[in-house]
Amino acid sequence: MSCVNNSTNNGKIVFFSGEDIPLEMHKVRMVQRIQLLPVQERLAAIREAGSNTFLLRNRDVFLDMLTDSGVNAMSDNQYAAMLRADDSYAGSETFYRLSEVLQDIFDTRYFLPAHQGRACENIIANAFIKPGSVTVMNYHFTTTKAHITRLGGTVLEVLGDASLEIDSDLPFKGNLDIAKLEKTVNEAGDNMAFVRIEAGTNLIGGQPVSLQNMREVSAFCRKRGIMLVLDASLLADNLYFIKTREEECRDRPLADIVKEIASLMDVIYFSARKLGCARGGGIMTNSEKLFKKMRDFVTLYEGFLTYGGMSVREMEAIAVGLRETLDINVINQTPIFVEALGKELQKRGIPVVTPFGGLGCHVDASRFVDHIPQEEYPAGALAAAIFIASGVRGMERGTMSEQRNPDGSERLSEMELVRLAVPKRVFTLSHMRFVADRLGWLWENRKLIGGLKFEEEPETLRFFVGKLKPINDWQERLAEKFAKDMPNGI
Ligand SMILES: *Cc1c(COP(=O)(O)O)cnc(C)c1O
Repeated sequence: MSCVNNSTNNGKIVFFSGEDIPLEMHKVRMVQRIQLLPVQERLAAIREAGSNTFLLRNRDVFLDMLTDSGVNAMSDNQYAAMLRADDSYAGSETFYRLSEVLQDIFDTRYFLPAHQGRACENIIANAFIKPGSVTVMNYHFTTTKAHITRLGGTVLEVLGDASLEIDSDLPFKGNLDIAKLEKTVNEAGDNMAFVRIEAGTNLIGGQPVSLQNMREVSAFCRKRGIMLVLDASLLADNLYFIKTREEECRDRPLADIVKEIASLMDVIYFSARKLGCARGGGIMTNSEKLFKKMRDFVTLYEGFLTYGGMSVREMEAIAVGLRETLDINVINQTPIFVEALGKELQKRGIPVVTPFGGLGCHVDASRFVDHIPQEEYPAGALAAAIFIASGVRGMERGTMSEQRNPDGSERLSEMELVRLAVPKRVFTLSHMRFVADRLGWLWENRKLIGGLKFEEEPETLRFFVGKLKPINDWQERLAEKFAKDMPNGI
């Protein structure tokens, strides 16, 4: 493999030794200090946080792998752009610059700014959902579903049957099953509100949707006159997988692929906390009618139409960040690190979602702690245990992240995952090795991990601020064992 063509190899630099590890095509010019607390202090911190990693203080966290939202490293050019932001309530030049970039990249005429992804979802739900409305999607996201159900709508999912298998070699587990889509749409009849495709399907392990599947879904929706919405928050990772896993796209420029994707959709929205590596969001469409249906909700909930609740500095950074997203050496950063971490975990026998997706490495809690029943939140318990063992903050993506059924019973999640998110350009390879090392220790001591129960349970999106308690003293016993096994208790 001495002669590697950059275009067909997607820019990947190959090591002479054959070693397969990520290589960063950027250098680090600003750093932030982090500290690793001793295990007894980590134990105290997670107890104080009600065993909920969302409630930890950042100063107690060693590696923050909670999410990629708003914490990707920005480029020098993004910081530079922030300085020329044009602050005005109405008609800011910054708005026009961002609109132009969006129009350039997506070929869409109308842009509605909003302060983050869920704000876009709020606007879309207010414009198109009424009691009884049905929405159909590959898979729900927490905030998407909450906005739709709050207004009396229903969310139905049409993933392929094999998409929920943890061990898989299916390249596009995020694909919608067209037969299921058709059946579900037929049953919904006049209540059909819209079909939504979530790029980089978040809750099933950052799994991508193929361009071919988007074409098929779009053709179906156009034939049936149904609005098609793309959640492009995780489009960067998804693009990387389209480019590397979809044969016909290997030599196609990224800009071209994005334009085709956009041409298949009626409405596109995104969280710029993820796509564009800054903080904000927005909705794009080519339809004046749809634009006008959504517009008033922007001025009502977000702010004037030329900033939509965002800081103009962030808008400048988004504009540059979006352009940078069309570079394979930018969008590969999460997937190649996820793969590097995933392989290290696999070497230790730890069950992870495969194929490796975007967003983060997803540990299968249903097997890691198979002795904990779903009613005791195995993924939440594992996330707390990981923090005790490593100071690494992951996120529960399982039953805790579900809403209870209307009758108050638990809605058991289809997957129990702990997500170790890999924000772009933030961590190094030795950080990934540290995570794998500590999880290796935890895997050998997994029987010490016990379940959790809610002490304080909010009705909506309970995983954010709910407080839990361990069912017994397992957290103390885990910390004691760690202190015994590690020479200095760190
Ligand atoms: C994060 C996310 C959202 C919500 O975006 P926020 O900016 O966090 O409000 C919506 N959809 C997907 C797929 C996401 O990953």
